[in-house]
Amino acid sequence: MENKTYNPYVSAQTQFDNVANLIDLDQATRELLRQPNKEFHVTIPVKMDDGTTKVFNGYRIQHNDARGPAKGGIRFHPQETVDTIRALSLWMTWKCAVVDIPLGGAKGGIICDPHNMSMAEQERLCRGYVRQLSKVMGPVVDVPAPDVMTNGQHMLWMMDEYETINGGHYPGTITGKPVGMGGSLGRTEATGYGVIYTLREALKSLNIDVTSTTASIQGFGNVAEYAARLYTKLGGKIIAISCWDNEDKKSYTYRNLNGIDVDQLVSIKNTFGSINKQKAIELGFELLDGDEWIAQDVDILLPCALENQITPPALEKISDKVKVICEGANGPTTPDSDEIIKAKNIYLVPDFLCNAGGVTCSYFEQVQCNMNYFWPKEEVLEKLDQKMTSAFQAVHKLSQEKNLYMRDAAYVIAINRVAEAVKLRGWV
Ligand code: NAD
Repeated sequence: MENKTYNPYVSAQTQFDNVANLIDLDQATRELLRQPNKEFHVTIPVKMDDGTTKVFNGYRIQHNDARGPAKGGIRFHPQETVDTIRALSLWMTWKCAVVDIPLGGAKGGIICDPHNMSMAEQERLCRGYVRQLSKVMGPVVDVPAPDVMTNGQHMLWMMDEYETINGGHYPGTITGKPVGMGGSLGRTEATGYGVIYTLREALKSLNIDVTSTTASIQGFGNVAEYAARLYTKLGGKIIAISCWDNEDKKSYTYRNLNGIDVDQLVSIKNTFGSINKQKAIELGFELLDGDEWIAQDVDILLPCALENQITPPALEKISDKVKVICEGANGPTTPDSDEIIKAKNIYLVPDFLCNAGGVTCSYFEQVQCNMNYFWPKEEVLEKLDQKMTSAFQAVHKLSQEKNLYMRDAAYVIAINRVAEAVKLRGWV
């Protein structure tokens, strides 16, 4: 699908400016909130296994911490850009604010390709990153988490380096740690389940019975799989799932009009996350082009893979039957598509509300770490459901009362909360 030159930072600032106009935000608050508060650009020398030293560029960008310590993932990517990290830091602030957790927004990244690095080199890179940033991170300052191409092991190395430098146990420094090493139960399910908690509420408000609905999903990774699991548990029927094929370097849509058995599809997924095409066909799936997920005759679309997937040309293929889009992925819809979605009268649950289950559970992880007391999974998921449901209801209510598009209503709530915090602190 089309992935033309959308600069995410320009998109994030444009979205902010539009809402700042809508709520008539004063000039100083506008200037403060439309850009990151602090940016750290670091170089990280790493001794490679062959004896040479390679210097990596890393970033930590803290957009705003008026409502609490900054929070956001660290990504490893060979094509990482400062503007992407800036945009993601803004979105983290709005995400934490819309679900009303006492955290600000940040994002980090290192330009590298972990696929071409040994585990020992990756460990030295993680430790080097923390050595450069230890004074500006920590449980009461800025709390990182895993993101693209980083995982619980990277977070543990980073936490260990931070604890070594600071001489104590500070498990609330970083989230996304493995369970048993300070991680929270329920984190694996949290984002996908959160997507479906918001979908469940959206359907209720539209008076649609979930058991009468069908859905098509883009992606079959962490978010998509758990969204698919909960949606089918609630009685919905998934008829198509699109996923990247690592062998053919293209995506395919796997369709079964009788309804997809999620366990069955997971059982034929390999370690790279690709689905075994031959086995899928043997199990009765139709193999369609990767972009076909969006053209299915379904009630619900769940983009849970990548950014910039719902574009004006893609929307030309969308079925008239579609009533709800829940954005599980970050930024799946291009800014020029929102007007088309509005005109089609499709109910949209915007990304920073829809996929906030992940950061909400990370917040629970931090709380549990700070108390050194861990909750059972049921308790984590129950608290998650409450948070997501009340956040959804607040956004839905405002959108109804003020006749606002759901994305704008979510922004109005988030930006108002952060603006109020900076004012109460006397920053503006
Ligand atoms: P993941 O790496 O586990 O899965 C990504 C999925 O997308 C894979 O199934 C892959 O096959 C699929 N994919 C890639 N390219 C595709 C294409 N062209 N067409 C169809 N499918 C394609 O990632 P994830 O953690 O599930 O994250 C998915 C999205 O959700 C991302 O935008 C991420 O930023 C966002 N998100 C994730 C979390 C989280 O907790 N994991 C939290 C908030 C937001």
